[in-house]
Amino acid sequence: MDEERISMPLHPSGGKLQMPVETEADVLALFEKALSLALTAGPLTGERYRRDIEDHFYYIGALCPQYVRPLHEAMVQLTGKQFHFFCFSFAEYLYLLQGASDFCVDHLMQRLQLPHQGSTSYFLESMLAAIGTPTALAAMAEYAERNQKESVFREMGFWLPGGGKSAVPRFTHHRRAMRFQAVDETLSAGEQETRSHPVGLPLSFIAEEPVPDLIAWHYVTLDLAQIDGLPATLFSRAHLVSPPSNGEWTLFCAISQQNRYTQATLRDAKDTDFEDEAYWRQQADTWKTAMRGEVVLLPYDDRLIYCNGHTQQTEGVYGDVGGPPLGLAELPNCPVCHKLMFHACTVTSGIREYGDGFRSLFLCEDCNYVASQAMGWN
Ligand SMILES: [Zn+2]
Repeated sequence: MDEERISMPLHPSGGKLQMPVETEADVLALFEKALSLALTAGPLTGERYRRDIEDHFYYIGALCPQYVRPLHEAMVQLTGKQFHFFCFSFAEYLYLLQGASDFCVDHLMQRLQLPHQGSTSYFLESMLAAIGTPTALAAMAEYAERNQKESVFREMGFWLPGGGKSAVPRFTHHRRAMRFQAVDETLSAGEQETRSHPVGLPLSFIAEEPVPDLIAWHYVTLDLAQIDGLPATLFSRAHLVSPPSNGEWTLFCAISQQNRYTQATLRDAKDTDFEDEAYWRQQADTWKTAMRGEVVLLPYDDRLIYCNGHTQQTEGVYGDVGGPPLGLAELPNCPVCHKLMFHACTVTSGIREYGDGFRSLFLCEDCNYVASQAMGWN
């Protein structure tokens, strides 16, 4: 029964360093080790150590972010090689620097006034965005307006209303891993639909008939009440779907209070030509009753595997509900009110094989719109 717990949940991807992170003292020791490695390791081993340190902090952000709190002020003041050892992704900073003090906000704002080389500004901006306090959200808006940096924060999932108003996060910090499990082949679609997060429903279950031509494939339906931190909506479920395409696209669907899509509009299917479309329609038809299952939501605890900034080495895990969007494609604005849509989930296409890359779901709580979006791997 405890088998899952015997395997170490933290798998550092550089393969050079594994340190305990059970207590606040452990995390301080790790931080000090990282600062020393940043100054002493050669370039090749240094990069492997750096990745290991990053994975340790990814794990700490998920399980025990409170142990990093005493290090916030030191982290935002790092410079030179030590700063570059702590250049993490925005999604990693988000769970480490959340709620950092106004001193940290002021210090980052002062540093951002200075000219920087390379990607340094971007990492300072990511740290500022990760803090998320009212002071930080106001500072982000001020900085973005002064420097025309709206798009940087937008890619991280923040809406900037303009006119001096604070940045608004359009994602929830509450994240859970999405694990696929197959359902019994004899289960009827009607019974499958009663599961919380079904995978592979008939399209007539998710859209009003006649089903809009642009909806060709169903990945997963989410019961929104089970995702903490989403805005209140008139609809209670949303469906991640695909048009007959393997390009980069965003499919906007109006949704009824009965949770059925009523119309669909496609944007950015640049690479789709008619031949591709015919092929993907045929694939959808051939496999329409295959790969049925459901998603179970797992907490970010020590039963997941943490490696390379994600948990997808955990068996059956394909992505997350909640957390920030990946930012690999232009995030969708609501087609009605034009506000940045709220991120609900991101998974890989492997959750129900169709196309290739990441798939995300966004919603607008005011206009009853849902967007499914496809991105390539990077
Ligand atoms: Zn809207």
